[in-house]
Amino acid sequence: MGKLVINKEKLTPSIIKELVDICPFGAMESKDGGLEINAACKMCKLCVKKGPKGVVEFIEDKVEEIDKSLWKGIAVYVDHVEGNIHPVTYELIGKAKELAAKISDDYPVYAVFVGHNIKDKAQEILHYGVDEVFVYDYEELKDFIIEPYTAAMEDFISKVKPSTLLVGATTVGRSLAPRVAARFKTGLTADCTVLDMKKNTDLVQIRPAFGGNIMAQILNPNHRPQLATVRYKVMNAPERSKDISGKITVQEMDRKKFKSGIKVLKVTKKEVEKEISEADIIVAAGRAFKNEKDLEMVYELADLLGGQVACTRPLIEAGWIDSKRQIGLSGRTVKPKLIITCGVSGSVQFVAGMNNSDLIISINKDPKASIFNVAHYGIVGDVYEVIPKLIENIKAKKGLCQPA
Ligand SMILES: Cc1cc2nc3c(=O)[nH]c(=O)nc-3n(C[C@H](O)[C@H](O)[C@H](O)COP(=O)(O)OP(=O)(O)OC[C@H]3O[C@@H](n4cnc5c(N)ncnc54)[C@H](O)[C@@H]3O)c2cc1C
Repeated sequence: MGKLVINKEKLTPSIIKELVDICPFGAMESKDGGLEINAACKMCKLCVKKGPKGVVEFIEDKVEEIDKSLWKGIAVYVDHVEGNIHPVTYELIGKAKELAAKISDDYPVYAVFVGHNIKDKAQEILHYGVDEVFVYDYEELKDFIIEPYTAAMEDFISKVKPSTLLVGATTVGRSLAPRVAARFKTGLTADCTVLDMKKNTDLVQIRPAFGGNIMAQILNPNHRPQLATVRYKVMNAPERSKDISGKITVQEMDRKKFKSGIKVLKVTKKEVEKEISEADIIVAAGRAFKNEKDLEMVYELADLLGGQVACTRPLIEAGWIDSKRQIGLSGRTVKPKLIITCGVSGSVQFVAGMNNSDLIISINKDPKASIFNVAHYGIVGDVYEVIPKLIENIKAKKGLCQPA
């Protein structure tokens, strides 16, 4: 960043008027014969570029250079509940390995596992090709409590100095990553959809911005570590190898740092719900349906295929479907083997949450609907005609009825 500086000795009444007129945001104010910049300034620097030369100047903040060679490796936070590792961890390990290979053959990939009674579970991670799993196994880390977990991550980063830390955008990850970033006064990019790495170890973090209308490339070149969160099902997990590689290192740290104002009194387990992000088959409904009752055909089709129902945002807003079933930027990311979209236009915000699906079949009566740009098979037709026919044919195939 930087700041705008007005060279007051160069101001004349006509220059003041010129600068006031140039600013499209009304941020230049003529006051008591002088000129002031108010809070409406958007730092567009038009006053510098188009104003009289040298009157307004932009002074860049001095950026302190960091020694990037002191930070080495890509670390992945092992997301888990009671030692049961969340699969996003393996997806991130897969990505970390890809990124590390861009730096050198021996650029290390680490996993950091924080919890209690997890030493045995750490072994599983060695089947995915990490170089080292750092384990923080303490009774104080039994439940996810933000202060002790942050303290353990701080200890890990201070001692190991990874250049990058990848965290799953789960409930835990979304809570932990910002705290860790703040401890190191570094940046964090949430919900990255693409990650790349430059030769100098700068992480290129790509994610939708401005309501999904642009893909922003975010760099954090003057701070380490670089932190990014990635949602489940965005990256690909590597195959689990039969063999193990790498090693487990049990870390020790000052237990006083686990001090917390939070005390867990009781943990009540929620009923495990079927998540659309886990589904192999999805039938997704869009605004083509005129009322809630008409969605029965979508449920029937999903049932026949052994799949789950999902939808676009307008159906959530109408209160027809539970919000956990929304696909997209402000909903869930899905990567099923088959998704059938029914009367979905294919907005960027929806497509961002499903375009990595293995097979996309789309039904829309508008042949120009943008969903057909991502669909592998498109059916141009009315959902009220196509879906009943699909149901009938599937039932006939299953011997549940005769085709018409
Ligand atoms: C910041 C932001 C975040 C957002 N996040 C999300 C998100 O996560 N998920 C999401 O879904 N949206 C999201 N949206 C909303 C998004 O922009 C779209 O408005 C939404 O996806 C449109 O849903 P739709 O395709 O069901 O409806 P529409 O765009 O209205 O499309 C309906 C489609 O149905 C077709 N159709 C109509 N009748 C029939 C019929 N009888 N038979 C066959 N086809 C028919 C039409 O041709 C049309 O293509 C977001 C918007 C913003 C600004």
